[in-house]
Amino acid sequence: MNLIFLGAPGSGKGTQAEIIERELKLCKLSTGDMLRAAVKAGTEVGKRAEAVMQAGGLVSDDIVIGIIADKITQPECKNGFILDGFPRTIGQAEALDEMLEKNSMKINKVIELAVDEKILVERISGRFSCAKCGAGYHDKFKKPKRDGHCDVCDGTEFARRKDDNAETVTERLKAYNNQTAPLKPYYEKKGKLVQVDAMQEIDKVTEVLEKLIKN
Ligand code: AMP
Repeated sequence: MNLIFLGAPGSGKGTQAEIIERELKLCKLSTGDMLRAAVKAGTEVGKRAEAVMQAGGLVSDDIVIGIIADKITQPECKNGFILDGFPRTIGQAEALDEMLEKNSMKINKVIELAVDEKILVERISGRFSCAKCGAGYHDKFKKPKRDGHCDVCDGTEFARRKDDNAETVTERLKAYNNQTAPLKPYYEKKGKLVQVDAMQEIDKVTEVLEKLIKN
């Protein structure tokens, strides 16, 4: 089962992909995570991507296509994958179609996590994650069960993303509306697009997603 999670920044793609990865043994492929790792490691890709990410823009298609290309066929993804944050442009979607065709693979469903734009800034500005394992949390909506301790690995250090601030978020939303939203009709025409109400609580959204994926 190969899936794409589509949705604005803050719609819960990463959170849900992390849960579904664990529950259904799929592998989560997040270009945002890959780019942040490249920035942290100071690689050539990281150096090219850092300023654009900080400004809330989209990293060029050739960079992201390059980093995802060999991931979809890796053995860890043999049960299937969830693409989180890729594709983000029509060019990326077309490149993905080519990659899949070459490997006799296909996308089963494109799931749009639909949210009202008004709540996104609040959702995004409260986000943080475990510095050790990357598990995601939120000041209001998803606190660690034990204060100061990661639920998954018991780590005690947490980090906030540099681009999770009101100014960058506005730019990220613009990029989503202008460059990523056209993917909805692109996948709708292919009969792959399903919309899920992602304004509900995290557990409720997971429940809906699991039902949808298992069907
Ligand atoms: P995310 O973690 O998905 O919110 O991504 C964080 C940032 O990484 C985005 O705001 C973009 O600057 C960059 N990025 C991640 N995925 C892509 C992509 N598929 N295409 C272009 N830029 C991306």
